[in-house]
Amino acid sequence: MLDALSGRRLRSAVPITLVNAGKLDAWTARQPEWVGEWLTTNGFAASPGTYCLVPDTTGALARVVVGIDHPAGLWDLSALPAQLPAGHYALDVRLSSDRLELVVLGWALGAYRFARYKRTTEEDESRAVLEWPVKCDRKAVECAALATGLVRDLATTPASDLGPAELAAAAKTVAKKFKAECTVIVGDNLLKQNYPLIHAVGRASERAPRLIDLRWGSSRAPKLSIVGKGVCFDTGGLDLKPSSNMLLMKKDMCGGAHALALAQMIMSARLKVQLRVLIPAVENSVSSDAYRPSDVLMSRAGLTVEVGNTDAEGRLVMADALAELDDGDPDLLIDFSTLTGAQRVACGYDLPSYFTNDERISAALMKASDRVADPMWRLPLFEPYRSQLDSPIADINSTGKVPMGGAILAALFLRAFIDRDRLWIHTDFMGWNTASRPGRPLGGEAQGLRAMFAMLAVRYGK
Ligand SMILES: [Zn+2]
Repeated sequence: MLDALSGRRLRSAVPITLVNAGKLDAWTARQPEWVGEWLTTNGFAASPGTYCLVPDTTGALARVVVGIDHPAGLWDLSALPAQLPAGHYALDVRLSSDRLELVVLGWALGAYRFARYKRTTEEDESRAVLEWPVKCDRKAVECAALATGLVRDLATTPASDLGPAELAAAAKTVAKKFKAECTVIVGDNLLKQNYPLIHAVGRASERAPRLIDLRWGSSRAPKLSIVGKGVCFDTGGLDLKPSSNMLLMKKDMCGGAHALALAQMIMSARLKVQLRVLIPAVENSVSSDAYRPSDVLMSRAGLTVEVGNTDAEGRLVMADALAELDDGDPDLLIDFSTLTGAQRVACGYDLPSYFTNDERISAALMKASDRVADPMWRLPLFEPYRSQLDSPIADINSTGKVPMGGAILAALFLRAFIDRDRLWIHTDFMGWNTASRPGRPLGGEAQGLRAMFAMLAVRYGK
């Protein structure tokens, strides 16, 4: 992705100009007459998502004119890295630093490719390269692009190559880069160290369940704790998913990928926090040892859980991780999860949801989300639904009695394992692009990651 950007300044760089449809005539009036004629001949009206290659009088490419909405946004340049002729380009625009960051990030994301299983062609090698604009916060763009790329790579990699062990290896790689501590509790050691739910969900797989534990930062800084759901493949367990629902389940570790990517951003920006990230990494498989619907399981928090459905496994593994982090009395507790289909019914594929018990942090998150063009939508922790999780024989049931409001029920379930007053943000999202759009190829996707980081950077920045 970042090789589509260059610090070199070339006088021969082809300028890229962004023009609002309403201002095209005014812009054209300042150009040589034939430029306007060329744009008209090519039917270019500066509609958002369109662009026109403008030659000079010798026929060489002299300028790229891109149509945008006002103000310039994240995806304005995203189609270009894959479509422009190979060569060196430079932005010819005046934008605020925030806007510039977004536009350049959009270019970087447009250059993302998941290339692990494809032979590269010569065409892939030669590409359009954009000069880093002078006023652009290069580090911020790199940080966001690399984190997004990490989520996409991890979520798009099939489960055969990304099981619990490989997810742990990915966490260790990130930890090493920032000299963070990273330990992993594997298999039956989860029982010895009292993570019974994580063990129960993952025990049916040949690939042992584990809890990834990353720590970084000064012990004097406020504690920031993050959980990410790391279900590397979700068959649904004995409540087996139908094939159409199982097809995408390699991405059920996307919450874990978000937690790791957010940790990378936090460490890279050196936020003033004492960071701890827990990723329960399991495969929800089918075998004679699989946990069953109606089983009653003990949890780390001491609550017994009646299993309503073995496909509601994410909330179980997260419950043990949340309980452990809650014990450490963090300043803020955040979790990421591809938790419920109900969230997608409510908000669709592209809009991640969050739940929180605190109005101020909600407002801060919404403000950050808007600023970095990473939309999120709040759903309610609607207390009257809590009784739907009552069980006649255990402290709580993992699923509700009514097949509605499932995203809210999952959030209320998780809340049972932490302090009522804990400052907490729970997220539930798709983590996947179901179709390719400029800058957003089909495959794993970071959703709400940049918004969360932007909020944290204000809260814990220098
Ligand atoms: Zn499931």
